Parts: sequence; C-alpha cells; structure tokens
Amino acid sequence: MTDRKDRMEFVHANSQFHSVLLDPNLCVGCTTCIRYCPTQAIRVRDGKARIFEERCIDCGECIRRCPKGAKKAVSDPLLLMGGYECRVALPAPSLYGQFGTDFTTGEIFEAFYSLGFDEVFDVAWGAVKATEITREILKLPGPRPRISSACPVIVRLIQQRFPSLIPNLMPILPPSEIAAMEVRRQLAGISGKIGVFFISPCTAKVTAVRMPLGFPTSFIDAVLSFQDLFLPLKKAINANRSKPPARKEHLLQRMEGLEPGLGWARSDGELEALHIDNAVTVDGIGNVIELFEAIENDAIDGIDYIEALACPGGCVGGPMAVENAHVARTTMRIRSQSRGVEKAEAPSPTVPVSASSGIGAKTESVPAEKSLAIYSWSEPILPKPVQVLDNDMAKALMMAEEIDILLEKLPGIDCGACGAPDCHALAEDIVRGMASFEDCIIAARQKKE
Ligand code: SF4
Ligand code: SF4
Repeated sequence: MTDRKDRMEFVHANSQFHSVLLDPNLCVGCTTCIRYCPTQAIRVRDGKARIFEERCIDCGECIRRCPKGAKKAVSDPLLLMGGYECRVALPAPSLYGQFGTDFTTGEIFEAFYSLGFDEVFDVAWGAVKATEITREILKLPGPRPRISSACPVIVRLIQQRFPSLIPNLMPILPPSEIAAMEVRRQLAGISGKIGVFFISPCTAKVTAVRMPLGFPTSFIDAVLSFQDLFLPLKKAINANRSKPPARKEHLLQRMEGLEPGLGWARSDGELEALHIDNAVTVDGIGNVIELFEAIENDAIDGIDYIEALACPGGCVGGPMAVENAHVARTTMRIRSQSRGVEKAEAPSPTVPVSASSGIGAKTESVPAEKSLAIYSWSEPILPKPVQVLDNDMAKALMMAEEIDILLEKLPGIDCGACGAPDCHALAEDIVRGMASFEDCIIAARQKKE
C-alpha cells in the first residue's frame, strides 16, 4: 500500500473481515465456547459451532476456551514483507514479555534487522504519547469515568452492549496507530514503498487495522503475530550472539526512556504511567462486563478513569501471545520499572541520516500541545446494537412479546444443550427463524408428554 487511497481500498475490501475463525473439522460441538462468548455470537447447530459475524468482536475468548483448538487466530503472512522496499517493524510493548529479561531490547531490535526489516520503531513510543494526551483530556470537563480506548475489543464491546458509554471512551488513536503515524511522518522523504508491520499478540488489532475505530484508514499495512515471529526472532538472536551481524545504518534510532510505554503491555501499566488518583484497572472480558454493568446501573461513583483490557493480565494475555501470561506480566513489570514511571514523556525520535536523503539530522516529534488534535479520533464511534430485533418498531415489539411467551415455555435453566448460550438466546433465535422450539430437548419432551 503506497498511499492512502490504496489503504482505503484495502479497508473497504476487508469491511467484513474477522480475525477469529472456526475450523469445523476440529469442532466436536461440545458447546464450551458458547458459554464464554461475551456477545453471544456463537451457536452450536448440527453438532458444529457457528460464529455470527455481525456479533463477533474478535476478542479471542473462544480461542482460549476451545478444548479442541477449533477456533483460530488469523493474522497476515510474513511473505507480505516482499511487497515493500522499506519494511518497518512496530513491536507491541508486550513482545518484550515473550523473551526473558536476559534478552535485551537491543538484541531483539537486531533480530528484526536480521529477519529483513529495515527499520524498527517501538509502539511503546505511541503508548507514552497516548499517556500525555490522556492526561490533557482528563484536565477537560466531560463524562466520567473516562474509559481507555487502547483495547479495540473494549471499544467494540461498548458499541454493541454498552452504547450509553460511548461518550466516555477516550477519543484518541491507539498507541500502535500513533507510532505508525510517526513512522510515516519521519520516513516521508525516502524513496520506495514503505510497509509498516505491527507485531501483535491481539486478534482484535488485526481486525482494527482493516476496520479502524474512530478514524477512516489505518497507518499500518499488515499485522504479524507473535506466534509467527517468536521462533524466527529467537533463532536470529542466538545466531547474532555467536556471530554479530554487520552493522547497517538505520533511519530510525532505538529510543531510550520508553519504560512507561512498555508498561502498557500489562494491566495496571497504563495507570502507572498516568499516575492519577481515582482510577481503576480491570482486565478479563467477564470482569470488564461486570464493571460496565455497574457503571450503567449508577453503582460506581468517584472514578475518573478506567483502564479496561479484554485479555486476562492485559495485552500479554493476548490470544496470539506465546509466553505464559503470568510469566510475561512479571517480565514486563521488571522491564517497565527499570526507570522511574514518573517520566512519562515521549522522547523525540532522532533520524540520523545524511542530508542527501532529504531528511534532516533530527526530526522533532509532534509537540505536546498539538498532539491532542493530531491523534484524536476524526470519526464518531456509533452504536451497533445487534440485539435490535427489527428496524420496524411495531414488528420488533411483536417479536419481543413472542420471546416472552416462549420464555415461559422454556425450562429457564440456561443449560446450553440446545446450542444457544441461554434460554433467552434460544427464544430470540426461534423468533428470528434461526432455531426451532424442538432444539430444546427438555421443552420438546414436555410438549410431547
Ligand atoms: S469449544 Fe466450541 S468450537 Fe471448540 S469444539 Fe466445543 S463447540 Fe466446537
Ligand atoms: S472471538 Fe469473542 S466475540 Fe467472537 S465468537 Fe469468539 S468469543 Fe465470541
């Protein structure tokens, strides 16, 4: 993708994309996944699971729960790198949690170069920038509590299940997009096709690049998974230890002082960098839903900010991560605390290139006072209430009445044996014409008797 138009076409072509897919050959219809899906997007019919695409928010919870490995994460293939002259790796902060602390950041950078990337730029820089902007927004009046929008699953969950909380979302780009935007700004003078590759543990971010939230087109060209890159990186590190690679000159330098941004890899890290009172961290999709329900019911008071992360432990627990989430979380705590968290200011990236390239010796970062305008959402986040029964109000009311009548006849034990997550979901499926009363074996037997 050389320019914005190409990327717009790319987004359009992927407007129905999902990064969580089912392999029907592996599914045994055990119904485990339907119990854990936060949006009731899965049904088991004829012995196989099925995902309702319009409901799926790509949280990856079903990947974690399926005992047969029938749910798969989809990311972009490494061979896409071949289509670009200047390949930039954007490692998510949680990548460093996949490697023990005996692997240095410098070694991991060198390993990216050995794998064919020309440049590496830390998403942690974008996280530090997001920290600055969040602090500015929190000084302004507005709805409380504000909710972090860094996790795309949270944004999509709010669109679907908690639309009343949309105004509470932080209206800023996620750290990966802020970092990608900065990379493009700095490399604007070079010739050749630039490919920006986000290295991610997260299925929802694969989807978010194709269908961005709050802005029209992503600054990222492809998302590569930790699972695909971990072993090649580790091999390259070991090879470089025995025979250091020839030193190449790079346009983007590795920055020091990004520890507060690295902290965003785990739950609590964002709050540690923000250093604010009256804030709450919540991780794990079930806990997030519980907290949001409490907010909607006015049961939470005096909270200014919520760091909400869908994965257990934060991004280190992402469905495409390799290392055990608890181990990775501890590693990230050590890595992010090696410097005082109070210095949460994005260092200015330097560009040590010759003047002939058209890029100066040092490119100043976007000044803090302009960041809010540059990195804010440019499009509204709209509700996506998939629970709406019909756009025709009269018809929807009739369907709601039918559901109530059916619920009186169904056993109400939410056993899941019918292939729907609970009795209400089955009643809704019947009214929508997607299931039959006989799918409930208990109710069908009672009817027969
Ligand atoms: S958990 Fe879901 S996808 Fe996995 S085997 Fe059971 S029904 Fe199939
Ligand atoms: S990815 Fe999440 S929302 Fe989608 S089907 Fe799986 S559990 Fe449900």
